[in-house]
Amino acid sequence: MSQYPNYGQTQQPYQGQANPSNPNPQFRPPVAPSPGGYQQTSAAYPNGASNQQYMQNNAQGFSGQQQDQSYFPPQQGIQPQQQHAMGQPDMAGLTNQMGGMGIGGENAGGYGAPSAERPRKKRDRHAHHTIEQPAGGSQAFDGMPQGGGGGPYANQFANQFSQGAAPAANQFPVAASSYAPGSTTISTEPPPQQPGTPLVGMPVQSSQGRVDPEQIPSVPRSRDVPAAHFLEHLYPTIEQHLPPPAAVPFVAYDQGNASPKFTRLTLNNIPASNDHLASTGLPLGLILQPLTRLQEGEQPVPVIDYGDVGPPRCRRCRAYINPFMTFRSGGNKFVCNMCTFPNDVTPEYFSPTDPSGIRIDRMQRPELHLGTVEFMVPKEYWAKEPVGLRWLFLVDVSAEAINRGFLDAVCEGILNALYGDSNPNDEDPGANGAEKRKLPEESRIGIVTYDREVHFYNLRPGLSQAQMMVMSDVEDAFVPLSKGLFVDPVESRKVITSLVKELPNMFSQVKSPDPALLPTLDAALAALSKTGGKIICSLASLPTWGPGRLFVRDDGKMHGNDAEKRLFTTEHAEWKRTANKMVESGVGVDFFMAAPSGGYLDIATIGHVSGLTGGEVYYYPNFHAPRDTLKLSNEIKHTVTRETGYQALMKVRCSNGLQVSAYHGNFLQHTFGADLEFGTIDADKALGVMFSYDGKLDPRLDAHFQSALLYTTANGERRVRCSNIVASVSDGAMEGMKFVDQDAVTNIIAREAASRMVERSLKDIRNALTEKTVDILAGYRKNFSGSHPPGQLVLPENLKEFSMYMLGLTKSRAFKGGREPTDRRVHDVRMMKSMGPTEMSLYLYPRIYSVHNLGEQDGFANEKGHLRMPNSIRASFSKIEEGGAYIVDNGQVCLLWLHAQVSPNLLEDLFGPEYTDLQKLDPFMSQLPVLETHLNAQVRNILQYLEGTRGSKALTIQLARQGLDGAEYEFARLLYEDRNNEAQSYVDWLVHLHRHIQLELAGQRKKEDTSGEATALAGFAGLRAPYWN
Ligand SMILES: [Zn+2]
Repeated sequence: MSQYPNYGQTQQPYQGQANPSNPNPQFRPPVAPSPGGYQQTSAAYPNGASNQQYMQNNAQGFSGQQQDQSYFPPQQGIQPQQQHAMGQPDMAGLTNQMGGMGIGGENAGGYGAPSAERPRKKRDRHAHHTIEQPAGGSQAFDGMPQGGGGGPYANQFANQFSQGAAPAANQFPVAASSYAPGSTTISTEPPPQQPGTPLVGMPVQSSQGRVDPEQIPSVPRSRDVPAAHFLEHLYPTIEQHLPPPAAVPFVAYDQGNASPKFTRLTLNNIPASNDHLASTGLPLGLILQPLTRLQEGEQPVPVIDYGDVGPPRCRRCRAYINPFMTFRSGGNKFVCNMCTFPNDVTPEYFSPTDPSGIRIDRMQRPELHLGTVEFMVPKEYWAKEPVGLRWLFLVDVSAEAINRGFLDAVCEGILNALYGDSNPNDEDPGANGAEKRKLPEESRIGIVTYDREVHFYNLRPGLSQAQMMVMSDVEDAFVPLSKGLFVDPVESRKVITSLVKELPNMFSQVKSPDPALLPTLDAALAALSKTGGKIICSLASLPTWGPGRLFVRDDGKMHGNDAEKRLFTTEHAEWKRTANKMVESGVGVDFFMAAPSGGYLDIATIGHVSGLTGGEVYYYPNFHAPRDTLKLSNEIKHTVTRETGYQALMKVRCSNGLQVSAYHGNFLQHTFGADLEFGTIDADKALGVMFSYDGKLDPRLDAHFQSALLYTTANGERRVRCSNIVASVSDGAMEGMKFVDQDAVTNIIAREAASRMVERSLKDIRNALTEKTVDILAGYRKNFSGSHPPGQLVLPENLKEFSMYMLGLTKSRAFKGGREPTDRRVHDVRMMKSMGPTEMSLYLYPRIYSVHNLGEQDGFANEKGHLRMPNSIRASFSKIEEGGAYIVDNGQVCLLWLHAQVSPNLLEDLFGPEYTDLQKLDPFMSQLPVLETHLNAQVRNILQYLEGTRGSKALTIQLARQGLDGAEYEFARLLYEDRNNEAQSYVDWLVHLHRHIQLELAGQRKKEDTSGEATALAGFAGLRAPYWN
């Protein structure tokens, strides 16, 4: 039975692209460009001379050889693994030594390893099938963690091959004829390993009864090795079934299955029955990020226009045409891959099929061979006439905003977003107008300011200056002008620029103390109700004026008691009503909220509006203009220039036998089963979908999932974006464990925990997270890991770092123990509900790089033009060296931590000749100066790389000097492997998990002691199987 088009017979157009080791000529692998004026070679510093100067201060006690390489002697195990001699004779000895330490060997087994060095024997030792590499196949992927097994789709492929397709002709080599379903013997060996990684059985207790911290699974390593691999290789979406780690940049090549950037399944091989899934403790779910950013080298999503008839869809379940639908009766019927209904093909869409049932026009039709496509849709899909996106800036001009420099920063951000770095004196868009456009051509913008009154501005291009219209009665919101509120930012550049620049002055005399926020939002909604649009709203103090005024709810006394969770939500009917109306009108809101004196803003109430409408809150808890203006300005620019759609509806369909059981994210859903509604949705927003069984799946068939986002683009086109993802089905759960996606699992669990914040205490949630972790690991131990000695903690290969991420979750600002202002908790919880996998991964475990011992070549492009990144280090103070300097980035903040005894030479090289000690540095510095030193260029390049792989937050640096800056506390908080945030160290956590797994195996496991919270826990206990839902 062939379920979908035969990939074994892919046709010519893919020839060049299908071989990942020989990418097409347009493909340019990602690399952070060098800063202007910098050469990427070290030619200016022959023999590493540039670095030698720092050594004078650090010479004592260190080996002379290493001094050439670093500001500070690397400690074994965390030093840069690539020390490139590059023809320098005096380096050769060191290189040899490094080789002798086996460092190169470790890497050789990883993702990036040349196939010749890969320890094939290890894989062959398993009783798994051997993959034969067909001609023109994917040698480049030899080192990939495919577990030596057939792919998830092996069942169907095997069938296809048995129908006569020769594997050698296969463009998408998967497990070929050597794979026979049913012959897989999973012996006592655990599931497949990534070549070169430590064995799965992980001894937790050594002979001394101690755990060796070096032996426990390392998140940094789990990222660095694949990152190096994916600098050089594509990720082909059918050939490979386990997506790269979410924190790693990669170029996906869409082979009919959607790229993991759009959609990640927790299990890429699904157990046929609920019982089998339940035995794993794992959730079956999907993470969707429908408008995600693509990276250079990736094909843009094609847009297909079928005119008035619209895209072909299944008559029964309304699924959109996709690569997994099959054609029958000579092309006259198409069989739906979701519901198996045989549909008639309309005459307009007809194409004959070849003898194997493949449409002969398949390669000319993107919807038949790409996993993600976009369809233009006709009028019946419209809710209202689509127009270009209207952006409305609501600017707080009350006293606090003016006093703290927040208004200046917001104005700077707006101009930065609309006009970027182009010459501000050039007010004539002229012939170069198109080049200066930061927004799509059809987009329009409007500006409103507010304090106790709301001020609208006529920005018509011909005006000598903007005209203000005041809505002084905030009890009765209306829009005082009909024309000139929304304008083309290029045509009205002069009017807009002079108004925005003048705003801080204009209101400096007024200084009204209270902003009236809800009436302003209502007026903005009135202005956008006919078209929909996006609101960007700044706020610098609690809105205490007019209808919907707020007061300080968090008096700090409710910490830890039951009343606290009321502070995590809003009880304000008027705010809720406004939020609902916005979604209905296709309006979304991003807030830029500053608490200049650290005050309470009731983010639970205000942020509800952005949460429900699909927007976002950017929060500056202790806004200080000199430090935060750059971040604020860059974030306003990011929010305005990222891909944004509005008036969006989302629907997820899946194969018969499965059904959607829950959605987790920021959106409006009127009733369960209804489509999800978003006022706006943008590139950074993701949501989670959970599935349950509606019967038993047929292991001979694959399981299919399709997400469809109906939305209006910023340029005013109504479209549907479809992503299709397929997973194979198997009788037990063993195969599922081979293709489990750790990032998707963590992401789903984090979202669900976030959704429970309003009903459960934080302590309950933390306990539930612990229980869940034990369930999953014990489930694996019980069912799959065979006969390991009882003293070993056995971790599934593809969930090796799962426990660490879960520990990171319990230590996150959202869920951690101890005091935390409710504003900050609520902010992080809402953010978590819409984070994509990349941002989530970083949020749960930061990336840390040491700056003082960078290799000579680190932070520069290699001979292939790829940026050479240093290895990251574990988030533990035990890895911090005396005299060291570190970059710590969790995707939200980026700290530059400097040890008190850091070398003065390092400071000079990083910050400039006048900075010879820590005290002289500007504590509010937010970016590095551009200097002509090697180190400065290295670090700026590394920061630029980090900036390219994160979520919605701008990357600016914040200094954390040991013993001097408050940010040091944040640094300590982020060292998630240590004992902090009222939680265990990583080592202790593993010991704790291990103990509970052993109890579970012995049938003696009791739930965590929660003294007196039996009722709440009973609620959770019922949620343990199959999943807490
Ligand atoms: Zn159907």
